[in-house]
Amino acid sequence: MPKPVIAGNWKMNGNRALLLDMVAALSRMNNSSKVVMCVPYSLLQTLEESAQNSKIGIGSQNVHQEVSGAYTGEVSVEQLKEFNVQYCIVGHSERRKFFQEDNELISKKVKRLLQSAIHPILCIGETLEEREIGDEQIIVCNQLTEGLKDIAFDDLRRCIVAYEPVWAIGTGKTATPDQANEMHQFIRGQLVGLTNAAIAAEIPILYGGSVKGSNAREMLAKSDIDGALVGGASLQLEDFKSIILSAQN
Ligand code: PEP
Repeated sequence: MPKPVIAGNWKMNGNRALLLDMVAALSRMNNSSKVVMCVPYSLLQTLEESAQNSKIGIGSQNVHQEVSGAYTGEVSVEQLKEFNVQYCIVGHSERRKFFQEDNELISKKVKRLLQSAIHPILCIGETLEEREIGDEQIIVCNQLTEGLKDIAFDDLRRCIVAYEPVWAIGTGKTATPDQANEMHQFIRGQLVGLTNAAIAAEIPILYGGSVKGSNAREMLAKSDIDGALVGGASLQLEDFKSIILSAQN
């Protein structure tokens, strides 16, 4: 079983003061899970400096797929590396929806990150309409296999998958632990097909969608839920701490 990963996704929220408070408090915790903070680009330097003597992983929320060039407003992997970024979210449903990111583009970003030894956190998940017509496995399988297409086994080992049903993100609605675990088992099965059972067992599959201190323990106790990708609650210190403590293995 992989070491649990609790990743916070601040989205376009937060500031330096909150980050400094958060890092100071999280650094003092005695937890066995891997904590990653995915902050806006503008906070990466503050995160790198303040988290230096801690085990907190430095995460970005996006990257551009090209190495460099005339892409105004974009940030490259090498620029992320300057801030010691080790993790990067790709394919978040908000990027798919608001920035028209498709599986082909997401797959390019995954490859670019792996070339620079940054762990991609590949987000996949169905919308409510897709679940209602019973297409959730087709959608998730497609996003997973397209997102991880043509990646060598050794690189797949360095990927993290986050199952985030779109209907549960920021809505206060969570999938039930059984519903989420069932999908995680399905994803694990697909990963076995892409790699083999040993590698698939090593790839952390995180759940994301309205995870809070109050529901994390039950969710994280499930056999195939290896951690959480946390949006709103990662901006609330006490809530985030409680999620982290729910993930002891
Ligand atoms: C997310 O944005 O990845 C997320 C899971 O958000 P929330 O926890 O707020 O639902």
